[in-house]
Amino acid sequence: MSDHYVKVKVQLEQMKSFGEDAEKQGVDTDEQEVPVSSPPASVSPDPQSITIAGRDAANTSITYKHRGKSRSKPGKDDKNSCGKHMSDLSLHGSVSAHIGKNLNRLGNERTLHIRGTGKILQGRSETNGNYMTIHPSKNIPETRREDGFKHARKRRPVTVDTSKAKTSLEALKLSIKQLQWKEFPLGRRAACDIYWHGVSFHDNENIVSGQVNKFPGMIEMLRKINLSRAMRTMQEMFPEEYDFYPRSWILPEEYQQFATQIRMVKENDPTLNPTFIVKPDGGSQGDGIYLIRDPTDLKLMAGSQAKQSVVQEYIHKPLLIDKLKFDIRLYVLIKSMEPLEIYIAKEGLTRFCTEPYQEPSQKNLSHVFMHLTNYSLNVHSGNFVHSDSQSTGSKRTLSSVLYRLAAKGVDIKKVWSDIIALVIKTVIAVVPELKVYYQADIPPGKPGPTCFQILGFDILLMKNLKPVLLEVNSNPSMRIEHEQEVTPGVFEYVPSPVDEEVKVGVIRDTLRLMDPGHKKPSISQPKAGGFEHGEEIPMEAESQDRNPDDGGALPSLCLKQVYPKYTKQFNYLRLVERIAALFIRFLGVKGNMRLGPTAFRTFIRTCKLSNSNFTMASVDILYIDITRRWSGAMPDSREAGMGLQAFVESFFYLAGRRFKSLPLRGQAASLLELCEAQLESQSGVEDRRSVSCSRALPRAIKTQTLGLTNPQLCSPAPLRRAASQDYRLHQRLKPRTLRANVEN
Ligand code: ADP
Repeated sequence: MSDHYVKVKVQLEQMKSFGEDAEKQGVDTDEQEVPVSSPPASVSPDPQSITIAGRDAANTSITYKHRGKSRSKPGKDDKNSCGKHMSDLSLHGSVSAHIGKNLNRLGNERTLHIRGTGKILQGRSETNGNYMTIHPSKNIPETRREDGFKHARKRRPVTVDTSKAKTSLEALKLSIKQLQWKEFPLGRRAACDIYWHGVSFHDNENIVSGQVNKFPGMIEMLRKINLSRAMRTMQEMFPEEYDFYPRSWILPEEYQQFATQIRMVKENDPTLNPTFIVKPDGGSQGDGIYLIRDPTDLKLMAGSQAKQSVVQEYIHKPLLIDKLKFDIRLYVLIKSMEPLEIYIAKEGLTRFCTEPYQEPSQKNLSHVFMHLTNYSLNVHSGNFVHSDSQSTGSKRTLSSVLYRLAAKGVDIKKVWSDIIALVIKTVIAVVPELKVYYQADIPPGKPGPTCFQILGFDILLMKNLKPVLLEVNSNPSMRIEHEQEVTPGVFEYVPSPVDEEVKVGVIRDTLRLMDPGHKKPSISQPKAGGFEHGEEIPMEAESQDRNPDDGGALPSLCLKQVYPKYTKQFNYLRLVERIAALFIRFLGVKGNMRLGPTAFRTFIRTCKLSNSNFTMASVDILYIDITRRWSGAMPDSREAGMGLQAFVESFFYLAGRRFKSLPLRGQAASLLELCEAQLESQSGVEDRRSVSCSRALPRAIKTQTLGLTNPQLCSPAPLRRAASQDYRLHQRLKPRTLRANVEN
């Protein structure tokens, strides 16, 4: 260690006790105007220009050791982690606090230069870093302006309640520190600007203002069955656009369809021997997953023991690197649902298998280290490679993998734009039901927070480079440490530079985007053309850029807006969202998620959908039949009535009756136009309810053109059901009950 770092270490030690005091102030309920206070008497900076590797000097010389010791097995004791993290943070916090304090005291003779990442010490990038420079010749106020911290100085710091952050706490603390915001690790009596929840919107009840990092209903919506159902609805209407999601069946309900279809496939071509992957509905981390080659291999249990799961086509030709299967973990921010704003992190992770890949055969079906890329499984393989480097080991950055593919001549711009399209289409598929949850938890007019959420997309690249969606995690792990066996049987959590590099950037930049005092970042103009290859791709060099807006103190945002930027390319897909807007409009009672029979009748009457061929008696039968079947599919549901999925099914049925000659998406679009026109003409008459629901029927998605002459519209959907006029064929399943998700 150089003299310089030894000096820094001593200073940090001296600062520590004071820093702990400063940290305790975090639980104060009082607002503080600025995060800077007077300096400790003990700090006497070097007269020469000093460079302190802010967090990393601490991390490298002190904190990492400290964390390693104090955080053995933190995973199981999240509820205790707060205290531990607080003691850890006191050191991090002190760096920041004292530097601030030093600014006041140093006057105009010193240069203090703080860097925020170990990558600098290691001669690598400084993506997550934090620079602050004081020029000796200038006075303090002037210097501050030049430092790029003027925003933080001018107004009170943004307040963040981290008391429920759980396993994302460590990365969150680092992010808050880099932003010089104010953390409330034990919560706060007064309202905070931002509430960071580790699991769900409901981690912290009674929040009436500010912003919460979870949407109500996201966990439920992204469970495997619900996601598969939402994707299937889209596949029925837009088969080509949604061919990135493997064909899936929901068990046990669709066992017969699954068995019949596989039998027919094999009868048609006996050389085919497809493989399927079975995933329990509420599972994560590869738990309970297995591969099968025949429906009879399903481990189905009878009656109430029957496990809800998804059986899915197994992608048997994945792209390999070093002969290993890998998948991509991409972080996606839903910044807002109304209007829809989606950001994608330019940097992600790739997780590698630890046994060379072979196409599935009866012999290797049970080789989890060959077929499943889950970190949580492979970390227990003797072949798992922990690496501090971003481009080697069993967990690497996405950019390092893309870089490697580019070097082999792969068109990574195309890969990246395909990934962006996959993300936007997936979000469009899940937003309709999310809106139903949202209005139930935060009805229009009731005080409540706004929401945003970071999602973890798991994506597999096929050998032909086509991205395939495996699943979306509502609670992607934001841990920046990994477990290591220090002596046989004794595990410690040690810092993982690759995780830190990616995750701290994602959290910090999410916070920057959600900064309530920040001027709204200009929403990119929707792009008409150039989507295909016009998107920036994540490459390592790019992460070095710094943001000129804050004087270069922080790196450029690692999150990139993709929606509304690409509205023009994808807006036509938002048909179910418009159906959901109708549904919400007729829900009536605040907090409701199901439509009663009277409300359904009102919908039919208001939109003038009944006639002599389809009487109100038929409407009642339709309602009863669909609702009863959905209730049967989900006997544990406490709420009676018609849910969104059942309503969509009824809507498709009504659309099919009225616009027989059109393909499903044309039918749905035509019926929507008809309903919306009816509602528009009655909007003067419709009073309270239409006002309360105005949020749910945005004009932006109403005014799309459907291009009914597009030849794609005429292609029959593989799973198409609307051609049939019998709504009983539209077998759909009901949403699952609410259950908390777990970290991956
Ligand atoms: P979990 O939530 O338990 O991690 P996933 O759906 O992510 O469940 O599946 C676990 C792993 O199984 C994935 O990381 C991937 O490696 C593999 N996998 C999942 N679905 C498929 C599929 N359809 N084809 C090939 N591999 C798959």
